[in-house]
This record gives sequence, structure tokens and C-alpha cells, in this order.
Amino acid sequence: MKRYKDLAPSLRTIMTPGPVEADPRVLRAMATPVLGQFDPEFTDIMNETMDMIRETFKTANHNAFPVDGTSRSGLEAALVSLIEPDDKVLVPIYGRFGHLLVEIAERCGAQVATMEQEWGKVFDPEQVIDRIKREKPAIVAMVHGETSTGRMQPLAEIGHACRDLDVLFVVDAVATIGGTDVRTDEWMIDAAIGGTQKCLSVPAGMAPLTFNERAEAKIRARKSIERGLRDPNAPAAAFGRVIRSNYLDLGQLQDYWSPSRLNHHTEATSMLYALREGLRIVLEEGLEERFARHKKHEEALVAGIEAMGLSLFGDPGCKLPVVTCVTIPDGISGDSVIRMLLREFSVEIASSFGPLKGQIWRIGSMGYSCSQRNVLHVLSALEAVLIRHKAAIVPGRAVQAALDIYLKGNDAYE
Ligand SMILES: *Cc1c(COP(=O)(O)O)cnc(C)c1O
Repeated sequence: MKRYKDLAPSLRTIMTPGPVEADPRVLRAMATPVLGQFDPEFTDIMNETMDMIRETFKTANHNAFPVDGTSRSGLEAALVSLIEPDDKVLVPIYGRFGHLLVEIAERCGAQVATMEQEWGKVFDPEQVIDRIKREKPAIVAMVHGETSTGRMQPLAEIGHACRDLDVLFVVDAVATIGGTDVRTDEWMIDAAIGGTQKCLSVPAGMAPLTFNERAEAKIRARKSIERGLRDPNAPAAAFGRVIRSNYLDLGQLQDYWSPSRLNHHTEATSMLYALREGLRIVLEEGLEERFARHKKHEEALVAGIEAMGLSLFGDPGCKLPVVTCVTIPDGISGDSVIRMLLREFSVEIASSFGPLKGQIWRIGSMGYSCSQRNVLHVLSALEAVLIRHKAAIVPGRAVQAALDIYLKGNDAYE
């Protein structure tokens, strides 16, 4: 008497900017037994995960832990905990996720100032620094890797300027963490937020983040204490300053992740197993080796796309290595190509939003999905599908161009 079929998801080749294929080791970790959240075995797992987050973000911050929820929860936790009503926040926008930072900052009661760059480009850091000097914001919030346009913003100079000018620098590193270099301390980022379902190849559901003592000082000053847990007479923070979220209060979360383990939420234990395993895989591979792997497969993918006669979208000088944006040829329905790739080849690539809707395809090469097997599969499938759509492409070259890169110096097949 079975009303619903067994769950049997298809095995896809996922070449989108997230979610990407989860590493099988991560899926196995998720299937291991649940522990109580104050079990010493589990708190050891929490501590190890914090260490691995520090290593992955290249930071010595003691605050480094995941927020439960998708990456957006980490962004919202950082902003709601750092922005006091009427704080001025500057958001330089060069794609969709810049607009998300604006939307969250506005809901936190900030006076938001924005500057916009055409989609497909990034900012000249000097331009942003000039604006910071004029605007004198309390916080600058910015995206590192913009998956909507496939661009990556250089952050070091902006970070240094923020430090000199005593501005807090908050960075969305959701798409870049674990796929390309994120130097939290060296670039003077005060709060950096990562994501799991992109280059870490862990399912969506957690947002690892880190923040330094500058950010912590502001959070501490605003912190409220759940009175049932601590001193019943402890004063609440002045109402105007209090962090307007309980779930995303980084002060309370910091206490939960500290040795005092002050109770907050029930930790998402199986997700933490997943994140721990995902980070362990990243560090086993080695950060620099992992970045080099992402660069190599990007090179092969780009060579294949260009050999097909397709053109890449955006300024090549600031390309995000883990996302490749391809201009949809005239007269071709981008959605029809995406549909056929999925139905006939079990390959998923992404469409786009806003001003780029219908203009480009976005191909991710992130984490476990970033492999020779997947690059060759997406190129061969895309070529076949485009031929089927009567696109004017150069047939027979794409896979060969990628193989030229993979087999460089290897004459085993000659
Ligand atoms: C995917 C993404 C997000 C949002 O992540 P969710 O996990 O969907 O909440 C935010 N910023 C960037 C740059 C992203 O690529």
C-alpha cells in the first residue's frame, strides 16, 4: 500500500554555480549516527570544524563557525549583528548578489549608499576607496565572487583602505571559498561569509563564517542575553542597539560555539558532519592544489567553448575561475538548450537573471563537480545540443581543445 514512490534522484552532472554535486564522502558522513549536541564527542567535532574553517579562510580569528541555514543566513547574521539602525553602509554592486546585500542592509535599518558597475565588470578599487572617503560609512559590504556575472572583485586594496579609515569590511565569499584564494586576514576583511553548496561540495544548509575582534567589539556592545539562560537580572542591551534577530545573533552564536557552550539552537548535527568532511577534503587536497585544479579545468572548459566558436561573456581580466559565462548565440533559445542538456544528457547548466536573462548561460566548475570527466561531458553534450538547435558552431573541435590541455605533454595516445 505504497502511496509515494521510493526516493530515487537521478545521477546528474551538475555544472551550475550551485548547488553542485556533493562529494560521496560528504554524503556518507551525513549518514553516520546522530550525537547529542553537548556530547564531548560532538563538541570535539565542533572544535575541529572551527579549526578547519580558520584554515580554509586563512585567518587567525578565534570566531570561525557555521551558521545553520543556507549561505544567505550567514550574510544576514553578519549584517544584522553588525548594522545598527541608521548606520551608513556602502554596497558596491556589480551583479545580483550585491543587490542582496543592499536588501538585507535596508531591512536592518541601515542608510544604504550604493555604487553600481555594469554587469560583466568589477570596480577599480580606487573608485571604491574614493567613495568610502567621501561617504564615511560604518560598514562596506561587498561580494568577492559574483556568480550572476562570473566576475571576481580584487579586495586587498579596499580592505586596507577600510582598515585605515576604521570602516568594517564585510565580504560575501560564498562562491569563492574552497575554489579560489580567500585571504581573510591579509586582505583585512573583518567578516567573511562562505557557502557550502558551491566550492565545498557539501549540500546547502550551512554558512561557515569568520569575524575578527573589530567586528566582535561591535557585536558585544549590542548583544542581548536570553535572560532564562544566565543572570536573570542581566541588563538587556539598550533597545535601539539590540541585535534584531535571535537566531542570527552572532554574539549568542559565539557563546554557543565557545567553551561555555551557552545553549542557543539545536545544532544541525548531520549538516555539521557534512561540513567537517567537506572541509577535511579541501585541506587534504591542499588549498593551493585545489585552486590550481579549479584553474586547470577552467582553462580546459574555456578552450572547448572558444573552439566551438562560442564567445565568453564579461571582462576576461576579472573572470571568476569557478564560473564561465557563455553568450547565447543569436536565434537560439537558451532555455531550450538547458532543457535538452538535462533531459537527454543529464547535464545541468544555469541560465541567468536580471539584465542577463536570456543573454548568457553560466557553467560552474566548482568543487567535486570540477573534474575532467565533467568538463568533457558538458562540452560534448553542449556541442551535440547546439547542433540539434541548428546553431552555427564549429563542430568536432571543443572536446579536442579541452583534451589538448588535459593531455599536454602526454603522448600515450599518439
Ligand atoms: C549562491 C550565492 C549566495 C546565496 O547562497 P544561498 O546558499 O542560496 O543562500 C550568496 N552570494 C553568492 C555570491 C552566491 O553565489
